[in-house]
Amino acid sequence: MAQDIVTGIRLRSVALPLQTPISDAKVLTGRQRPMTEIAILFCEIETGAGHRGLGISYAKRAGGPGQFAHAGEIAPALLGADPSDIARAWDTLAWAGASAGRSGLAVQAIGAFDVALWDLKARRAGLPLAKLLGAQRESVRCYNTSGGFLHTPLEELLVNTDRSRAHGIGGIKLKVGQPDWAQDIARVSRVRAHLGDAFPLMVDANQQWDRPTALRMGRIFEAFNLIWIEEPLDCMDAAGHAALAAALDTPIATGEMLTSVGEHWDLIRQGGADVLMPDAPRVGGITPFLKVATLAEFAGLTIAPHFSMELHIHLAAALQREPWVEHFEWLEPLFNERLELEDGRMMVPTRPGLGLSLSDQALAWTRATAGFGSLG
Ligand SMILES: [Mg+2]
Repeated sequence: MAQDIVTGIRLRSVALPLQTPISDAKVLTGRQRPMTEIAILFCEIETGAGHRGLGISYAKRAGGPGQFAHAGEIAPALLGADPSDIARAWDTLAWAGASAGRSGLAVQAIGAFDVALWDLKARRAGLPLAKLLGAQRESVRCYNTSGGFLHTPLEELLVNTDRSRAHGIGGIKLKVGQPDWAQDIARVSRVRAHLGDAFPLMVDANQQWDRPTALRMGRIFEAFNLIWIEEPLDCMDAAGHAALAAALDTPIATGEMLTSVGEHWDLIRQGGADVLMPDAPRVGGITPFLKVATLAEFAGLTIAPHFSMELHIHLAAALQREPWVEHFEWLEPLFNERLELEDGRMMVPTRPGLGLSLSDQALAWTRATAGFGSLG
């Protein structure tokens, strides 16, 4: 087989508006403003033999224009590369932007190329990405986050949980971490009573407690039979998370804010998580995500990837230990396809690659594009 090469790359910066301004604990403690849009970075790759791949990365609140700009600086390094050699492509892109570092915004830009190359390889093989990676299952248990934010009044929260369950969702996550602890306890208590004792329920404090508060709240929440307590502390406080994980029966979940394999390795090594929440675009794509997954597997951790269910459903399907995927419908308008839910689980798509194509809406929301090489 003659060697195929990357001949064209298109970058697309899309501003995805959110229907309602979104508030978690970071807004209630005054650290952030409500979120009104998400900046999406799409990367479309074409090869000389006519194969195509679609990759995605994203930024919330800030970083979108920076990701797009950095991707544009490093994209020419990928022209002429063998699209099958994804690990080499990752290194090529990292070296092209080496002075920008191996974490954060720089690797999030690489993530869009990396995902596109994996999509291309799976589409070329005629396989869903999950099967190319070596799938363990046809569906993954899923929980809903989008219905449980702090801008949502309690009565509406209960309606959202009913809607989620009717829709086939297998768990409900509530945001906590409000300055008034009593309100957190009241909301969790009310929702637990509404769901019954057995239905999977999680809480997420979005890093807004200090160590003593997290321990006290964690002890109070032990009574609610939670699947996990997420981001009780600052995302870089691995030692604090480790102490909480040792003190509480309820599992501790964290990792969504980490932006490299090295940061995950540090967290895992210190015993800072029972449930690890890597985010593939945030750590630089599927290639680094798989390294994190291997570290987590050998540390005995459950993985619950953060956000972007359209991508993570495939990665979760290939993990050894039964994972969770996070249901967020926010990205749905960007794509022509929809994921299916059944009996609390998200079905792994059977279309080749990620099984995604850009919608007309995504094209309409495009703020900037940049092309490299020749595009068909
Ligand atoms: Mg979270």
